This record gives sequence, structure tokens and C-alpha cells, in this order.
Amino acid sequence: MTSRSKTLFDRAQKSIPGGVNSPVRAFRGVGGSPPFMVRGQGSRIWDEDGNEYIDYVCSWGPLLLGHRPPEIVEAIERALSTGTSFGMPTEREVELAEAICDAVPSIEMVRLVNSGTEATMSALRLARAFTGRDLAVKFEGCYHGHVDSLLVKAGSGVATLGIPDTAGVPKAFADSTIALPYNSPQAVADAFERYGDQIAAVIVEPVVGNMGCVPPASGFLETLRELTSSYGALLIFDEVMTGFRVAFGGAQALYGIRPDLTTLGKVIGGGLPVGAYGGRRDIMSMVAPAGPVYQAGTLSGNPLAVAAGLAMLRHLKAHPEIYSQLEVRTAQLAAAAPAGLTVNRVGSMLTFFFTAGPVTDWDSAERCDRPRFAQFFHWMLDRGFYLPPSQFEAAFVSAAHSEEDIERTAAVIRQFFTGA
Ligand SMILES: *Cc1c(COP(=O)(O)O)cnc(C)c1O
Repeated sequence: MTSRSKTLFDRAQKSIPGGVNSPVRAFRGVGGSPPFMVRGQGSRIWDEDGNEYIDYVCSWGPLLLGHRPPEIVEAIERALSTGTSFGMPTEREVELAEAICDAVPSIEMVRLVNSGTEATMSALRLARAFTGRDLAVKFEGCYHGHVDSLLVKAGSGVATLGIPDTAGVPKAFADSTIALPYNSPQAVADAFERYGDQIAAVIVEPVVGNMGCVPPASGFLETLRELTSSYGALLIFDEVMTGFRVAFGGAQALYGIRPDLTTLGKVIGGGLPVGAYGGRRDIMSMVAPAGPVYQAGTLSGNPLAVAAGLAMLRHLKAHPEIYSQLEVRTAQLAAAAPAGLTVNRVGSMLTFFFTAGPVTDWDSAERCDRPRFAQFFHWMLDRGFYLPPSQFEAAFVSAAHSEEDIERTAAVIRQFFTGA
């Protein structure tokens, strides 16, 4: 029996590398071939063959309110009726910038871009310009988009596919990056002792999502803040995943740390392509045309995308109870895991790691039983539950997931482990 999805996937591979426009979608981490999607509503998605799934990928994070929330659909439709793009300033861009600055106090000024990758790339360039230094510190298993110098020891699809570092990345770019183990304050202290006067920035996922969910150990983020400040380097929180996800003000609100620069994406676009970088006014004032650091975008601040993002942020601000609901629902889902499995969760981000754990960094994440994870993934998929098709990606719960959705999911998870 050939399904429509399988036929489409075979066809896609003739015109698109690997058949997909972003690698993890191709299911290489779990085997099999991906369902092609036709529709989403609330917590549900439907594929080309009419199968229904409860969706725990949520477009890899953006869909904090689930699929097609009415407030966002209406905002996009209103924007659509007046024009799709001007390449000129519009009032809503100012409103979105103000909404971001208002929600995240460390962000005094912000520039909108089109993706998380653009945000981290630009933030790093800016940090290098501001400090007059070249080196960047990142952490193994963290993913900051496909920025050349940040692909060193990267998480997400790079980890899933086991791609060796830096194919196509000039050695000089890779050499400008120091990759250290996550949650190791000592490693960071050592790096600063050695290279302190050359380090422009430390970039970190304050809660990692891209080696699966790995929370910061107590004191780790504080150490990064202290060391960067004392050596004159900048602290960049990559909150492309965690921004407006783990709390309205992001992970920095949750852990009480004020970074110098922050990158955003995913949730702030409400399901459309938006990224942003922002932070201290003195640093952001170096961005062109205010200053000498060039960064531009034909479709940056796109009216449809900005309308969607603004509707998302306004809805979240008006409904803070969404975050407590997400906490309760996701905790309920996490509780379905049996002993012997490690469950990491922060707010509505979670990962079932197939190892006794604990999972605190890339080395411990990598110890997972990936074939067993793949079995689990397909068991769930066959029964109508779409989890991330990789051990090294976080699952997401949205505000559209009902208690009944979670109960049904938890029951099927338990069945997998009891062999029922
Ligand atoms: C998704 C992600 C990115 C990249 O964002 P894109 O929009 O895919 O370019 C960067 N950093 C983090 C932490 C992410 O989760």
C-alpha cells in the first residue's frame, strides 16, 4: 500500500535535497518517511492520508496557542487586506518592538529579522563590533541556527544526523568559536582565564531545547553573567526557543538574569517567519543606520508576520494564566514516563530521554538509547501522537492541548512501557 505521503516524499526527493526544507523533518533520526501535512486546528494536525494526530511539535515551538488560534488568524487577515509588503516602515512594527521591550526588560531596543538564524548571526556580529574582539563561546549541543561559526558542536538536526563539524565552514570561522560543555562553570572559567581578552561573547540557550530539553544547573547562568561582566565580554541569551515559551519574559525572567543581548524567534512570529535581536541601548545603537554594524532585510518587519506576532504577544499578555495551564498540563504529560527514563522539563518544553540519566549536557544526552527512542516515536505516531522525530529535540505543549488530550497521550505512553 502506498500512501499519499510516501508518494509525495518520493517525489519531493527529486527536486528538494532529502525531500525537505529543513533536515529533521525527513525522519532520519527515527527511520521511516514523514507524513505530509494538510491542515491544523488547535492541538490537532491532519496528514495527506486523512490521519489525525495530537501535535507535540507545534512547528518546533512557534505555535504556543496551537494551530490557527482565532486572534492570530484574524490579525493576519486584517493585515492581508491592506498589503503584503511595503519595504517601508509601518506602525505595527513599532508596536511589536514596544511589546517586546515591554515584556523583556533587558531589551531596550530591538531589530526585527526573518528567522532565528538571522537573529543569532546578527547578534554575534554586533557583539564582535561592540567589543572589538573575535572569539565566541558556545556550548556543545546548543543550536543557534545555521550560522557558520555557530555550527561547531551544534545540537538539533546537526546532532540528530551526526554531521561532523563544519562541512563548508571555513576553518577560520570554526576557529573563532570555543565550544564548551553545558552546565560546566569550571570550563567557562578556564576559557576566560586563557582567552579572556579575546572573547567577544558567550552565547547560550538559557534552557537548552536543541539536545532535547536540558535546564541550566543552579548557578550556571549566574556564572556566565559574572564572568562575561568581569572580562568585558557580552552575554547573549539565545531565547529563540524559550522566549515567551517558558515564561512571558523568557528564561531570563524565570531565572532572574539580565543578558546584554537576546535573540528571539519562533513564538514572537505567531507561526509566521519572525526573528529579533535586542538588548542594551548602547550596544543596539551600533546597528545601521544608527551605527556602523550593517544588517538589513527586504522582508524584515513584514506586515503579515508582524501582525501575527503582535496578536500572539498581546494575547499572551492579556492571558497570563496560559503559563500556569501549560505548567500543569506538561507536568501531567511528564508524569507518564516510567522509572528508568529521564524526563527533563521546563514549563511547556519537555524531553523523554531514553537513559537512566541524569541528562545535564551533550555527553549525557548522547548516551540515550536512540533505537529505543525510535520505537517509541513510531509507536506514538501510529496511534495518532506526533512527537519530535529525534531524541535531541524538545516536545512542546500548547495552550490548545486539553486535559483530555494529555490524558489520552499519557495513557498511550504508559502502554508502550508496560507492553500492553
Ligand atoms: C530554532 C532555533 C534557532 C534557529 O531559528 P530558525 O528560525 O530556525 O533559523 C536558533 N536558536 C535556537 C535556540 C533555536 O531553538
